[in-house]
Amino acid sequence: MEKNMQAEKLFGVIGDPVGHSLSPVMHNDQFAFQELPYYYHAFLVKPGELKEAVNGLKALHVSGFNVTVPHKIEVMNYLDSIDEEARMIGAVNTVVKEENGWIGYNTDGKGYVESLLTKAGETLENSSILVIGAGGAARAVISELARRGVRQLTVTNRTSAKAEALKERVSERADIRAVPTPEAEKDTPSFDIIINTTSVGMSPHVDNIPWRTDHLKPGCICSDLIYNPLKTAWLQEAERAGAQVLNGVGMFVGQGAFAFQKWTGIWPDVDRMHAVVMHHLGGN
Ligand code: NAP
Repeated sequence: MEKNMQAEKLFGVIGDPVGHSLSPVMHNDQFAFQELPYYYHAFLVKPGELKEAVNGLKALHVSGFNVTVPHKIEVMNYLDSIDEEARMIGAVNTVVKEENGWIGYNTDGKGYVESLLTKAGETLENSSILVIGAGGAARAVISELARRGVRQLTVTNRTSAKAEALKERVSERADIRAVPTPEAEKDTPSFDIIINTTSVGMSPHVDNIPWRTDHLKPGCICSDLIYNPLKTAWLQEAERAGAQVLNGVGMFVGQGAFAFQKWTGIWPDVDRMHAVVMHHLGGN
């Protein structure tokens, strides 16, 4: 958007913390690139202030917004309708003002799987996949993998009960195993793809590793949802062990691309979004 031009539509992200979010630069660059007079802003919304914040966004006639930690679940209480996918995941990351009200979607899983496809390609459906972790991101990733027809899905988590609960959540869609971590570790050589959805290895605890890499299946894809650091200690170790690696930038860009499409009806230039994010993360 040119400096003196009025934004015709306002978008944003609500979360806490939200100051370092890369969504504003990614979306504002894409609005300008697509010549759309729109603007995207990061709004700090503290826990306990969510209801007022959402009502405020409605009153300000915002056209849509993203939702990040810690509001992805609670925000569902303040919307008019929740899309089926977001309901299955149990969380909303994208809100769109539509004719029939404020609708909650979840684009995290779709965004992630699009990025995984750049490595896994057509073999995805027949791959044996281990997901480490059972939090919000794991729910989005597993729901989408199940929707895409992946048949061999295993989930493991530090807190086993949460992995069991996740299994129940998606069981109508896929035959998924919830396995205690020591057992899943023994099975490591059987997995084609291992996905870390935990925060283990995220800055500032960059030396922590979520999974051993000494008996990976040859050709295994190790995928980390973390993108700070860009290449976690785990991905570095896995690469040295011969694995293909994938960081979380593609997921971040992918979820943003699907949100952008929902708001504008336009499929964005994803390579450009990726380049903008990488530039701000100090990568290539
Ligand atoms: P969450 O709901 O809080 O879940 C955190 C998960 O990490 C839980 O399974 C938790 O296990 C596990 N965990 C945390 N500390 C652990 C430790 N020391 N050892 C073993 N497991 C541990 O968080 P989330 O929203 O799912 O996010 C998880 C990660 O995904 C974060 O690093 C986040 O940055 C990343 N993420 C990336 C994107 C992207 O666009 N690339 C999008 C969303 C999230 P328990 O259940 O036992 O506590």
